[in-house]
Amino acid sequence: MSDASLRRACIVGHPVAHSRSPLIHNHWLAELGIAGRYDREDVRPEDFAAFLAALPARGYVGGNVTVPHKETAFRLVTRRDAAAEAIGAVNTLWFEGHALVGGNSDAHGFVTNLDEEVPGWAVPRGRAVVLGAGGAAHSATYALLARGMTVAVVNRTAGHARSLADYFGTGVTVHLPGELSSLLPEADVLVNCTPCGMEGKSPLALDLGPLKASAVVCDMVYAPLETAFLAEARRRRHRIADGLGMLLHQAGFGFEKWFGVRPVVTPALRALVEADIGGPRKGGA
Ligand code: NAP
Repeated sequence: MSDASLRRACIVGHPVAHSRSPLIHNHWLAELGIAGRYDREDVRPEDFAAFLAALPARGYVGGNVTVPHKETAFRLVTRRDAAAEAIGAVNTLWFEGHALVGGNSDAHGFVTNLDEEVPGWAVPRGRAVVLGAGGAAHSATYALLARGMTVAVVNRTAGHARSLADYFGTGVTVHLPGELSSLLPEADVLVNCTPCGMEGKSPLALDLGPLKASAVVCDMVYAPLETAFLAEARRRRHRIADGLGMLLHQAGFGFEKWFGVRPVVTPALRALVEADIGGPRKGGA
């Protein structure tokens, strides 16, 4: 089949070699028998605007955007979906007519994963504790507020947490890590939105002892597949949701925009990405 007959999407970032998105999307394309391809594009910040302007000329129907381009993409698209508007960052691009539209699928991935892994997780008027105040914390906060929860943002830099709270307005409070021991007994959901626990980074130093037994624990980190933080939550019999589940579910949003079919996150896909990351997580499930 000639290249021109393929529908093509890509992930654009800098660096981008580590991204699992091509593995995920090319798996779905093969599984669904769609004549398409999903590429990696390493684009430096100074070249990003020109790259976006030339997306159709390069044969792309859209793509994903990752670090460090999410905020620039937010500014450059013609219009944004409600999630991108609320979160302040774009991670998915597609065309509607000639208009380049920017969306954000992280919040979608976060709640879809929770809905699947931990049905009933969003208790009415529940309280969430979000660790971190960067892009991932913005997505989680947006999703948690949308499910009617209040959010306590805990961050080592109070100013960053304050900016996040100001961005969303009511429903978000700001805390330093020293306040965790008083926040955890009230929390229904605890989410790690820092890179702590990632391969090569320091682990998340957090005593889960004060957390109530019914609390749900999530980690956005997906390499390793199960962080020490999530393993400890599992050991304490909390219901958990991992970062890989979120990653897989956020991918489906873009795939449907580009290829017209909502793909399914199957055990086979999960196993494929697990093998690429480094084997199934400890403890099964
Ligand atoms: P980011 O914008 O750089 O924000 C990182 C946040 O973590 C900041 O609030 C930062 O605190 C805090 N932090 C960093 N190092 C820390 C440390 N050693 N101790 C305590 N706090 C620390 O990053 P991001 O884009 O939000 O990503 C965060 C994590 O989520 C990454 O591991 C990323 O891979 C993951 N993620 C996963 C998915 C998924 O689909 N599973 C999606 C998005 C992100 P300061 O404000 O004090 O600097």
